[in-house]
Amino acid sequence: MLLSDKYPFLTNYFEKGINNKLNNKGVPIAHSLLFWGSDLESQYTLAKEIARLLNCTGDYSDNCQCLNCRWIREEQHPAVLTITRMDNKPADDDTTKVISIKQANMIKNSLMTSSEFYRVFIFCDKDDDGNIKGLNSQNFQEETANSMLKIIEEPNDRIMFIFLTNNKEDIISTIISRSQCFNISKTEKENFGWDEIKNVFTNYRDFKREDVFDIAQSLFELSKEIPPEKLLEDMQNYMLAILKFNPGQISFIDDIKQVETAKREIELGMSPQNVFENLCLKLIK
Ligand SMILES: [Zn+2]
Repeated sequence: MLLSDKYPFLTNYFEKGINNKLNNKGVPIAHSLLFWGSDLESQYTLAKEIARLLNCTGDYSDNCQCLNCRWIREEQHPAVLTITRMDNKPADDDTTKVISIKQANMIKNSLMTSSEFYRVFIFCDKDDDGNIKGLNSQNFQEETANSMLKIIEEPNDRIMFIFLTNNKEDIISTIISRSQCFNISKTEKENFGWDEIKNVFTNYRDFKREDVFDIAQSLFELSKEIPPEKLLEDMQNYMLAILKFNPGQISFIDDIKQVETAKREIELGMSPQNVFENLCLKLIK
């Protein structure tokens, strides 16, 4: 199953953030991500897909054959490294149970030199058969995590860290607080109930202030066919979907409240055009 079929919301969210990052506009993808949940294989696939889109020199399609895409699919890319207690260790490192401080130092040293690639470090664990497993307080210990805080906090440009785990509680809080966290569940429901506003409102946080009235107008036009209450409901569902997969984005709660106010204004008989304009002015900054 294609990733975009299994995780339509997340795929869209990350693609947009990567596109913004590469084009220096809008809200870029964060430079430290933490995926948590039971589906480690999907977490790993998503992580590799992000690395691929950051490095693609071709057409970004699922089967792009540019060198970077091929290398990343084959797990041969020199700048996209899977860091586990077994993989990518310096020669003098004989630890087998933990991601070691020597590994962390190796990464830190490698960042001192520049690279033509977008460097992505995927931190996880593997079992003896090579199956992807999650980080926990045993295989990724506090000392090692803390030795990397500075590079996670103030990374050079074109560097990304991705941490994979079953349970967020197993990861030291200093990593959590520096990362954008996403729950990767076994399946992502395809229909979030925001189909009606999809074309006008998706990624509204990236919209520009000068476009506020055009967007409000599009919503008003839509409201001639679809009741405004339903459109507002859809906006809230969209915001809730972002929150569900990205619980760190608490500022969306304020946006949900603004939509709630707009719903009340509609109930009180205010004109939909005014309600949408006021709302867009509040949401788009
Ligand atoms: Zn490519």
